[in-house]
This record gives sequence, C-alpha cells and structure tokens, in this order.
Amino acid sequence: MVAAGLLEELRDFHRRYNQEKVAENCQDYQHGIFQSIGFKEFHEYLITEGKCPQETSALLLEKGIQALKLVTKRYARKQNKWVRNRFLRRPGPNVPPVYGLEVSDLSQWDENVLKPALQIVESFIQGRQPSADPVKMESEIKEDKRSHHMCELCNRVIIGDREWAAHTKSKSHLHHLKKRRKLHSTLSAVESRVNVTETQGDHEGTENLGQDPQTSPAQPENG
Ligand SMILES: [Zn+2]
Repeated sequence: MVAAGLLEELRDFHRRYNQEKVAENCQDYQHGIFQSIGFKEFHEYLITEGKCPQETSALLLEKGIQALKLVTKRYARKQNKWVRNRFLRRPGPNVPPVYGLEVSDLSQWDENVLKPALQIVESFIQGRQPSADPVKMESEIKEDKRSHHMCELCNRVIIGDREWAAHTKSKSHLHHLKKRRKLHSTLSAVESRVNVTETQGDHEGTENLGQDPQTSPAQPENG
C-alpha cells in the first residue's frame, strides 16, 4: 500500500482538503472521507512533515504505518465476522454464494487468490457456475442430532452435537468447571502440605533409628 503510492496520495489529499481544517482547528476525523482507514493514522506525520527533524518525521511515519497495519487487520476481522453472520449463518433466498480463498501465503498470492478470484467473478458475469465450490452454510454442515455426549463434570448425558456445543458454553457447565478447578488447586495444595509433613516424619524416624536408646544420654532421663 505504502509502496503503491499511499504516501503521495495522502500528502496530496492533506494539502488539498485537510491542511486548512487542521490550521483552523476544525478537523474532524469522525466524518466522511476523513474517517477512512489509512488517513487519520498519518495525522501527526502529515502536519509535522517539513517542520521537524528528518528523524522525527521518519519515526512518525513508521508509527503511522504500524497503526495502519493494526486497523487494517482489525477491519479485516470485522469484515469476516460480518460475512459470516450476515451470509453463512442466515440461509435464505437473498443470500449469495460466498467463496473462500486461501490468503495466508503472500508468495502464492497470484496463484491462490488473484487467479481464482478473477475466475469466480468472470463466471458470475457470464452467468456460469464457477469451478470453485462456495463456502458451506453453517446450517449445511452435517451435525449428528443423535450423538451422545457424556459430561462427566455435570454427570449428564447430552444428546446431539449442537446441544453439546451449547452445553459446553452453558452457565451450569462453566460453573461446574470452575468448581472442579478450584477443588483441584485446593487438593494439590493439601497434597504438597502432606508431602512436607511426611518427609519431616521420615526424617525424625531415621534419627531415632540411628540412635542407640541405651547410649543416648537423653533417653534414660525421659523414660
Ligand atoms: Zn457439563
């Protein structure tokens, strides 16, 4: 993005539309184009460029780039979530097919992302079925409605995959889980205390065995 001329674009936009507003102290990054990702992150850099040492400027630029990466990541996550909730979890006649592409390997971008994406769009434009399969609706994913799950924590049998998934997130199950964890930590604390006592006991025992009661000076007086 930066290499593709982002900086030049930002400077140009800043000069044309933003500089004056900043000068008049009426800049507002909450509205319109000014709130778009990749602009407000460079505010400090843009308003100080040429008015501060080169190193400071470079630092502010780096800061902007890092902030840009962060908000872009956050936005991508939000978009994915939106697509999942809006399309994949809500089957219906108005829901278009959603295609998933493997984007994690940047070195394979053209092969894994660009080419298949263009193919899908092309097929769509020409009214053909794309060769790739759309992402499955979450409701299409086969679930076993009769599977038995034994929850040893709650001592209950749960029937059905969906019910089981819901159970593991339920308040009562989590309550039991918490109780079990607490019990475990108490037990291990008690255990370590018992171990210490046992070791001390053994130690005393060995000492007694090593001494001859008759030659021990303390023994006759005690007895
Ligand atoms: Zn449970």
